[in-house]
Amino acid sequence: MSQKKFVYAFAEGDGKNKKLLGGKGANLCEMTQIGLNVPPGFTITTETCLDYIDAGHKLPAGVMDEVRRHMAQLEKATGKGFGGADNPLLVSVRSGSAISMPGMMDTILNLGLNSETLQGLIRQTGDERFAYDAYRRFVQLFGKVALGMPDELFDGPFEAIKNREGAKEDIALSAENLHEITNLFLDAVHGHTGKPFPSDPFEQLEIAIQAVFNSWMGKRAVDYRREFRITPEMANGTAVNVCTMVFGNRGFDSATGVGFTRNPATGENQMFGEYLVNAQGEDVVAGIRTPKPIAQMADEMPGLHKQLVELRDKLEAHYHEVQDFEFTIERGTLYCLQTRNGKMNAHAMVRTSVEMAESGLITREQALLRIDPEILQQMLFPRLDPKHKASSLAIGLPASPGAACGRAVFDADRAEQNGHGGQLVILVREETKPEDIHGFFASQGILTSRGGKTSHAAVVARGMGKPCVAGAEGIHVDTHARKATIGDTVIKEGDLITIDGTTGNIYLGAVPTVEAEFTDDLKTMLSWADQAARLKVMANADSSHDALRALSYGATGIGLCRTERMFNAIDRLPIVLEMIVADTLEQRQEALDKLLPIQRSDFQALFEVMSPRPVTIRLLDPPIHEFLPTESQLVSDLEHLRQLRSTARGVDILVETIRLLSPGEVAAMHEIHTLADSNIVDAAIVKKEAILKKVRALHEVNPMLGHRGVRLGITFPEIYAMQIRAILEASAECTKRGIANHPEIMVPQVCTAAELRAVKKFVGEIRERVEKETGQKLDFKFGTMMEVVRACMRAEKLAEEADFFSFGTNDLTQATFSFSREDAENKFLPMYNAVKILRDNPFEVLDINGVGKLMELAVGWGRQVKPELKIGICGEHGGHPASIAFCHRIGLTYVSCSAPRIPIARLAAAHAALKQ
Ligand code: PEP
Ligand code: MG
Repeated sequence: MSQKKFVYAFAEGDGKNKKLLGGKGANLCEMTQIGLNVPPGFTITTETCLDYIDAGHKLPAGVMDEVRRHMAQLEKATGKGFGGADNPLLVSVRSGSAISMPGMMDTILNLGLNSETLQGLIRQTGDERFAYDAYRRFVQLFGKVALGMPDELFDGPFEAIKNREGAKEDIALSAENLHEITNLFLDAVHGHTGKPFPSDPFEQLEIAIQAVFNSWMGKRAVDYRREFRITPEMANGTAVNVCTMVFGNRGFDSATGVGFTRNPATGENQMFGEYLVNAQGEDVVAGIRTPKPIAQMADEMPGLHKQLVELRDKLEAHYHEVQDFEFTIERGTLYCLQTRNGKMNAHAMVRTSVEMAESGLITREQALLRIDPEILQQMLFPRLDPKHKASSLAIGLPASPGAACGRAVFDADRAEQNGHGGQLVILVREETKPEDIHGFFASQGILTSRGGKTSHAAVVARGMGKPCVAGAEGIHVDTHARKATIGDTVIKEGDLITIDGTTGNIYLGAVPTVEAEFTDDLKTMLSWADQAARLKVMANADSSHDALRALSYGATGIGLCRTERMFNAIDRLPIVLEMIVADTLEQRQEALDKLLPIQRSDFQALFEVMSPRPVTIRLLDPPIHEFLPTESQLVSDLEHLRQLRSTARGVDILVETIRLLSPGEVAAMHEIHTLADSNIVDAAIVKKEAILKKVRALHEVNPMLGHRGVRLGITFPEIYAMQIRAILEASAECTKRGIANHPEIMVPQVCTAAELRAVKKFVGEIRERVEKETGQKLDFKFGTMMEVVRACMRAEKLAEEADFFSFGTNDLTQATFSFSREDAENKFLPMYNAVKILRDNPFEVLDINGVGKLMELAVGWGRQVKPELKIGICGEHGGHPASIAFCHRIGLTYVSCSAPRIPIARLAAAHAALKQ
C-alpha cells in the first residue's frame, strides 16, 4: 500500500487541486510552477486535517517527519537555518480551505523566533525595534491562536506600558519598551499555561499546525460554513501553508505593496496599487505611513517596476482574470506572496469583461460568466455612496432597489404639490393604494410601514424603477399628525430622509448617492448575452412610458400589462369607482363606455411603442378592494362631513341673523356661506354613504382569494367585453395604419378550462364584430395566467383552449404555501428564514421544490397537448437569476420582469444556457 502523502512543496503541488491543497495553497503552488518568484514553502493537505480531527485531534504518524524534511529543503533553498542564530529562517503559518473563509481561521507570522534567533534577526536587519516588535507580535499571536489565551492577557500589559510612556500610538514605543513588553508577554504565557513559551522552533511549528487544524472546527468557522452553506463537497478541512518570511523593511532596496492588474474602480486596463519602500505590510494596514501609487515606482525603482509589470502580465495571462496580488521586495528581489481574483464594482467588471474578450484574453462566454447578474443592479439604479458613514435609523424590506433622498411627506397630494413645486420628496405611508399613484410619480422614493415585496407599493415602485422600502414595521406612521416615529426619533413632514431600497435601510438626513450608468460596455456585453441565451426576456409594463424604458433595456416584448394599473391616473379612478359602485347594468355600462376610448388609446400607444413585438395584456384582475377607500377611512370622513354640516347650518342661521340686524354686511358673508353651503355638504355625504354601503357589501375576508380575476370577468361580462373590444379595436387601428402589432390577451386567476372557454367565447364574438366594423383581419393570441394550483393540475385541459401560458408565481407561491403575499414577509417569514425552516423567501426566490414542481408538471402536461405551446413567467421571480435558471431548465419560452431588471434577466438567461 502506498503511503499517504501529507505535505506538498509549492514546486510539486497540483495548482488545480483546491480541495486537497486549499485555495491559497493551490495558488501558491501554481504561481511557483509558472515561474513566479514565490518565497519557498509547502502545504499540508486538507486530508491531513480530516485525519487529525478523526483521530481525536492528533496528528497522523509521519506528518511531522514530512514537515521536517520539507523544512530542511526550505533551509537549503534559502540558505537560512530554522532556529539558527546567524541567519534565522522564519516562516508564516496560514490556513486555507477550498473555499475562502476570510478571517475565520488565523495566521501566525514570524514563527521560529526565540531569544537566540531574535539576535540573528537584529543583526540581519540592523533594526532592534523592528525585531522586538516582530517578536512581541509573534508571542502575542501564538499565545492567542495556538495557546488559546484571551486578548486581555496581552492587551493589559501593553496598554500599561503605553500609558506609562505617554505613547498615544504603538509607533511611539521604543525598542526598549518593546523588549520589556515581550518579556511581559512571555511571562503571561508562562502564567497561563504553567509552562515557558516554547522556544524550540519545531515545537512552535507543531503546535501552530495543530492550532490551524483545530480552527476548522472552531465556532466561528462552523457558523460561517453554515451561514454561507459551504458543504463538505465544496470544502472539507483546511490546509496549512508554511511559507518563508520575506521582509520589505530591509533597507531602501526593499518594499511592500498590493497590486491590481487593472483598476478595480474603473476597470481601466492599467496596473493599480500602492507600495511603501523599506516597510512591512503592517505599516500599510496600521496607517503609519502613507503608501505611494504604484506608477511612482517607475521613477523610484525603475528596474523593479519593470519586473512588477512583467509579474502583472504573467498573472493575467495565466489566470485569465483580473488579479489582486501582494508583493514584497526584499533587498532588490521581488516576491509574489499571494494572488486571487480581484473584487470589483459592476462598472469595472463589465468594462474588463468586454476589454478582455475583445483582446482575446478570454472568450465571450467567459466574459459573460465571470459577472454575477445581480451586481448589474449597481449600474441601473442610483446607490448610496459606498464611502458614506451614516448609520441606519430603521430597516424594512428592500422592495425596489436604488437609493433616494428627499423630504418626508405623508400623503400623495402633498407629495404631488411639493414634488411639482420642485422639492425632492419621499412618500411615507402605512401602505399605498392605487389612489396614491400621483404621489409615486412626484416622489423620489416610497417608504411604507406595512406590506411585503409583492405589496402594491413594492410592485408599483419596481415597475417605475423608483426605490422603495416596504414593511418597515419599526416605524409608526401617523398621517393625521404628519409625522412618523421610530423609537424616540420623530420624522416630521419636511424632514430630510434617505432610503436604500437595495438594502432596506432608512436614514435620517441626506446620505450622498452615486448615479446609475448604462454604459456602452454594458450594451455590448448584453448583446453577447442575447446571442448565448435561449430564453427571451420580456417586460412587465403598464404604460407606454414604462414600455419605452423596457425597450431601452432590451425587452423583446411585454409579458404582462396589468390593465388595472392603467386606471390609476387621477382622472380615471373616479370612473372606475363609478363602475364599481354601479347598482345596475346600465349605470355600469355608462362608466364602461367612458373607459373604452381611454383603454383603446392606451393599448394603441403600447402597440406603437412595442411594434412589432408581442404585447401581453391581462384582463382586469384587481382584488376590487384595492380601488376603494377603507371602511374606517370612510367612517372618519363621514364624521367630519356631518360636523361640517352642523357648522354649515350654523352659518345659515348667522347669515339670516345678520340680514336682520345689519343688512349691509351680508355681502361680506357671501363667500363663507358658499363654502359651507349645506347643500354641497349634503351631496358629499350622500356620495360617501353610497361608497360606504358598497364597501361593506363588497367586503371580503380574504380579498386576494376573492371576487377577482376571471371570476369578476364572468360575473360582470360587460367589464371584460369592454377591455377585449378596446384591445381588438386598437389592434385594428394600428394594422390599418401599417403598424405591425401582436396582442396577446391573457386571462388572470383561471382555475378551470370552463372559465377560459367562457371568456374565449366573448373574444370570438367581439372579434367578429370588430373585424366587420373595421374591415381589418385581426391577428392575436389568447392565453391564460397559471397562478392557481388547480390550473397547473389541469394544464392539459387549459392547453386545449390557450395559445400560451404565463406563470403568475406571486399568486402561485401564495396559493402553494397558503402564505399571504401581503403579510408573510413581515410576520413569520424572517424567523422562518433565520431558523432555516425555509432557506429563502419564496416570494423572492422561486421555490423550486414546491412551486417549481407544479410548474414543471404543468409545462409537461401542456406541451403534451400542444408541443409548441408558448410558456412564460411574469411573477416577480421572472427577474431573479436563480429562478431564471430554473425556468430555462424546464423549457419556458420567456421570462418577464419589471423594466429595470431586464439587463439582469438577460445576463441570467445567458448564464442559464451556458451553464447547462
Ligand atoms: C402573479 O400573481 O404572479 C402576477 C404576475 O400577478 P399579480 O402580481 O398582478 O397578482
Ligand atoms: Mg397574480
